[in-house]
Amino acid sequence: MTKDRFKELMKPITEGLFGKQRPYHMQEEPHYAIRPVGMLVEDLCRIDEADWGKYAFSREPLNGKFNDEQRRALTEQAIACGKEYAEKYAAQYGMRDPELLARKLGLTVDYPLMPQNTDRVLFAEFREPNTVHIYMDGVRKAEVLLAEPGVRHALTGELQISKLLLAHELFHFVEEQNKKTIWTKTYKIELWAPKPLHNRSTVGVLGEIAAMAFAKALTHLPYSPYVMDAFLVYGYAPEAASALYEEMMTLAGRTPRLPPAEDTPPALAT
Ligand SMILES: [Zn+2]
Repeated sequence: MTKDRFKELMKPITEGLFGKQRPYHMQEEPHYAIRPVGMLVEDLCRIDEADWGKYAFSREPLNGKFNDEQRRALTEQAIACGKEYAEKYAAQYGMRDPELLARKLGLTVDYPLMPQNTDRVLFAEFREPNTVHIYMDGVRKAEVLLAEPGVRHALTGELQISKLLLAHELFHFVEEQNKKTIWTKTYKIELWAPKPLHNRSTVGVLGEIAAMAFAKALTHLPYSPYVMDAFLVYGYAPEAASALYEEMMTLAGRTPRLPPAEDTPPALAT
């Protein structure tokens, strides 16, 4: 997800975490039925890679420039681009472990608990020219959730959260290394500009979709890493994660499930 959308979802949490408490007025905000985390990941893992396109585009500032058919075609091209570079780098360096590959490429990877000097909650980021930060607070919270019923089964033994986050960020480094030729940087759309000027822009979400496809291919993950968008948020805020789940399912053309009804004892006759 984009940083802005994430920030919006995490706002109540970051304000709590960083001490800026605010008065309790949740009644004004929409409520979402909280799903058990096992149900959430089980359903999200079934969404096909290309069916994540609409969700991905919904976070793109230029989303309104495209129709569904174009979004679909661009999503497929971005996935192909991510896969192509995963196989290219794995073959060229003879390895697919994201940590070893990062070292081989001369990246500096560190694992601080959370970002410094900011109130943003982030899971990982690439900083030019060659640094990746993996923030362990979110990773550890998610690792605790792996023990919940059904979670490990759905997410499989292939999942190593910090390596998956690193693989995604690695793609952004690969994009920089290949920025003159890689499709996610060379594909541009024409935006309005007074004649005879031209205003051509890259489409950021294509790099995100490709980064997910790169991470999926590199680590042989059987589902889209977009699942992590909701899973990692769940560690902080099950309700925000459930809201994301509903949105992801709906945008992928699926029906979100409701949580199982609680076993309430029958009311006593009075
Ligand atoms: Zn990214």
